[in-house]
Order: sequence, then structure tokens, then C-alpha cells
Amino acid sequence: MTQTLLEVKKLSNFIGGEWVESDSSKAVINPATGETVVEVPLSNAKTVDQAVDIAKKAQKEWALEPAPMRAEVLYRVGYIMKERKERLSQLLTMENGKVIEEARGEVQEGIDMAFYMAGEGRRLFGNTTPAELKDKFAMSVRSPVGVVGIITPWNFPIAIATWKSFPAIVAGNAVVWKPATETPIMAYELAKIFEEAGLPKGVMNVVFGAGSAVGDAMVNHDDIRVISFTGSNDTGRSIASKCGEQLKKVSLEMGGKNAVIVMEDADLNLAVEGILWSAFGTSGQRCTACSRVIVHEDVKEDLENRLLAEMKKLTIGNGLDESIKVGPIINQAGMDKIKSYIEIGKGEGAKLLAGGYEMNEGPHKNGRYFAPTLFTDATADMRIAQEEIFGPVVSLVPVKSFEEAIEVNNGVTYGLSSSIFTSDVNRVFKAQRDLDTGIVYVNAGTTGAEIHLPFGGTKGTGNGHRDSGVQALDVFTEWKAVYVDFSGKLQRAQIDN
Ligand code: NAP
Repeated sequence: MTQTLLEVKKLSNFIGGEWVESDSSKAVINPATGETVVEVPLSNAKTVDQAVDIAKKAQKEWALEPAPMRAEVLYRVGYIMKERKERLSQLLTMENGKVIEEARGEVQEGIDMAFYMAGEGRRLFGNTTPAELKDKFAMSVRSPVGVVGIITPWNFPIAIATWKSFPAIVAGNAVVWKPATETPIMAYELAKIFEEAGLPKGVMNVVFGAGSAVGDAMVNHDDIRVISFTGSNDTGRSIASKCGEQLKKVSLEMGGKNAVIVMEDADLNLAVEGILWSAFGTSGQRCTACSRVIVHEDVKEDLENRLLAEMKKLTIGNGLDESIKVGPIINQAGMDKIKSYIEIGKGEGAKLLAGGYEMNEGPHKNGRYFAPTLFTDATADMRIAQEEIFGPVVSLVPVKSFEEAIEVNNGVTYGLSSSIFTSDVNRVFKAQRDLDTGIVYVNAGTTGAEIHLPFGGTKGTGNGHRDSGVQALDVFTEWKAVYVDFSGKLQRAQIDN
């Protein structure tokens, strides 16, 4: 089926507007079926050098194009993506495994980002402000950084790339993008769309290959002035320290240990819906996945029973089938990690209420599936309630009060997303103030970000930058302060006034 959607069996790098083949390659496996989808190039540092040289030249011209004209390309990108939404969604499900409804949502996020960032071409606002001296004008403007390096994960292969590359491009940068080796098709498709939309050659370059080869070469390249990375904390930490040595700007979006808080005054049916969608959507392989439910003890048993009843209805399988709600696990390393946490949870004394096993029989035999899993009676300090599992596993932590719920939510090293279900308006406002995460949802699950708001987390989730929203422009621009003195004489600030 993939070959009917994809006209090639092996992908090529996209460098300087040319499709460049690579000597070595690796099979990309559909996690739902175990079948090879396509071959992805395994490039090396030399290819990165070529891409950066070309990007550097292209960027000089691109930066001189007026921003509204740069934005025209993004509008065209958005329209082409819109036309191809169904084809892109199906390919996304084949390489990543997420169910088709979610794949469509992810592609839509990219389309929204294209139109939003295209609009920024006519804003890119700086400030004008009074100067302290007579006959003097002061303003601040955004300048492009130059060549930017983008490194993306497999779990959102197109949305995250658009959060990063669209603001970079509209701001006048050139991009070298290394997509995750697990999910290269969206990068190939997006590169083709950029080509068709008329982006000048060399402004967007895609280099496929392992993080340890291509990603590392980008991080260490003198002419890449900013690295925008989304992925695991281990990789992010190592990239940050290498960038620190070089005084290179780096934006990191990493893991989460997100919680849904359910208070005793919550609409429990709504809470159950929110938990199921956040915990088991994308098989829990989202940075914003709900992997803890902090529940008031008065409604704990009721919530458990409702969750168990609804979990029984979840259909697990190949996400191309519209009736499937939970897809596969991306790879064996992911599966092994999930299984290890089941044992950790049992060993810590949490009670396994549902799931906890790999599904490999009947319709699940060729793919890699894990049963949606519910632990209860977890305590806040258990490893299953502290560490990112990245699978369909959720742990209930009972609490006695609102204050304790906030404390448990904040008592992890991550700070990406949190949610509270309550009908008390005072608690709503206290929660949005006190929850120490970059994203807070009220009466909704932990997922569902909109592209015009900043996306990212506090504490161990990030390093203070944000993807998407107008804030993403801060990663890809430098602020420049400009003073124009029209007095005809030398005026000295702080001295002559
Ligand atoms: P990962 O293993 O860190 O990989 C992310 C990207 O980094 C991949 O492209 C990978 O290349 C590359 N990479 C690996 N080692 C590298 C190195 N030494 N130098 C440079 N690049 C390197 O993460 P993942 O497993 O793909 O993604 C899952 C993680 O991402 C989870 O922790 C999740 O929470 C997090 N995430 C965070 C957000 C957010 O916005 N906060 C969003 C989505 C996901 P390969 O192709 O070789 O793997």
C-alpha cells in the first residue's frame, strides 16, 4: 500500500534543491505490520558539510527578500499540504503507527502552522521606543540568525518540523533538518512540498541519518548558529553541553511526566474521556501524554471503575483502520522500556488493574502492540510516577486535598503539561497559577495544544525556549537595537542629557 502512495523505494537527501542519493541506507519498518515501508539514507558528516555550505550561501539571498515575500512561499506550502492532507496522513500512520484520525490532526497542525507563520511575514514585530536624547530615534528589530539546525523526533514527524522550520524560514534563515531515522517519509514529503512551493534552492535542506552521525555533526558545525532540538532528555542534555562549549544557541523540548488531576467535584465522565484520550492516544508516546492521574480519595474507586469500563472498549491495532483507537509501539527499544516499567511498578507495590502485557497474537502478531495499562495505589515517589515511560501506561496516585494534588503534580523533574478537572472556579484559578508546567488544561486532558500558543515546558522539560506561537521566533532571530541620531552632532547617551 505504501508503494501506491510513495513513488520511491529509497528516499534521497534534499540539498541545495537537488535530490542527492546516499551510499548506505536502512529499512523503515511500519510498526503496525512489521513490513518495510521505504529505505532511508544513512548520511554522514561530509553530507552535513555540503548542506551547510549551500545553506550558508542561500541564506544571504533569502534574508534580503522582504519578509512578506518570504511568507508567500509558506502560504503556498500550506495550500499544498491542505490538498495532500489525506495522503500525508496515511503515510504518517504507516511510518509512525499513530491512528489515522490522529495523523490527520497532526498534518492539520502543520497546515495551521504554515498559515500562521505566513501571517508573521507581515508582522515580525519589533519595538519603537522614545530615545532619551533630542533628535534621536530608537527601535529594536529581529534579524535572522543564519543557518539553523533542526533535529526532530519520530513521535510527531511533521508537526514538530513545521513548528521549527516555518518560523525559521519566514524570519530569513536557511535550514538544515535532520528528521528521526524511524520516520523519514514526512520529511521527504515536506521537502517536495517546499520545492513545489518555489522555496529558493538551499533554503531548506534535509539530511537523513543517525543522530550520532548527522545530528552530532550538525551540533558541532561552526556555521550552524542555533540548534532547535526535540527529543529525549539524554540526547538533549548531551546536545546542550556540546552547544554550551561552543557558545551556540540551543532550544530544547524534551520529556514529560504529565498528570491529570481529578478533584472530588469533577465531572467524572468528562475526566474519564480526557484521561483515555491523553493516556492512550498515540499509545502514550506523546511528550504530553498523561501518565499520572492524581485523584481525590473520595472519587478514586468510582474513577477506577469508570476507567476500567471504558478501557475495555479500546480497539488496538493498525491505525489505518478507522475503527482502531490505539496503535502500535514504535520500536523494540520502546517496547522493552514499557515492559521494564511494568515490573518496576509491581515491584514498588502499585496495584495492576488492567493491561501490563505485550499483545502478539492474532491480528497483533506481526506488529508491536502493548495493552492499555492501569496501575492504582501508586505513591508520588514511585518510579512509575516519576519517570517517563512513553507507552500506554497510566498510574493513579490518590491524594487527600487540592493542595496535595498540586504538590504531587509539581513533584517531578519534568514540567510540560498538566490538567485539572474540577467545577470550582476558585480552584481553577489557583491551579493555573500554581501548576508548574508550561501548559495547563482545565477540564480537558493533557494534550491538545494549538499552534498559535507557545509550546514547551519548565524544569527538566526544556531550557526556557518555546516551539510554535510567536515565541518560536525568538529561537530563530537575534534582537538588534538600532539608534538613528538626526541631530547632526555627537550626542552621548547618559552624559549629554
Ligand atoms: P531521541 O532519541 O532523543 O531522538 C530525537 C532526535 O535526536 C532524533 O532525530 C535522533 O536521531 C536525534 N539524535 C539522537 N542522538 C543524537 C545525538 N547524539 N546528536 C544529535 N542528535 C541526536 O528522542 P525520541 O526517542 O526520538 O523522542 C522521544 C522523546 O522526545 C520523548 O522523551 C518525548 O517526551 C520527547 N518529545 C518532546 C516533545 C516536546 O515538545 N517537549 C515533543 C515530542 C517528543 P535518530 O534518528 O538517530 O533517532
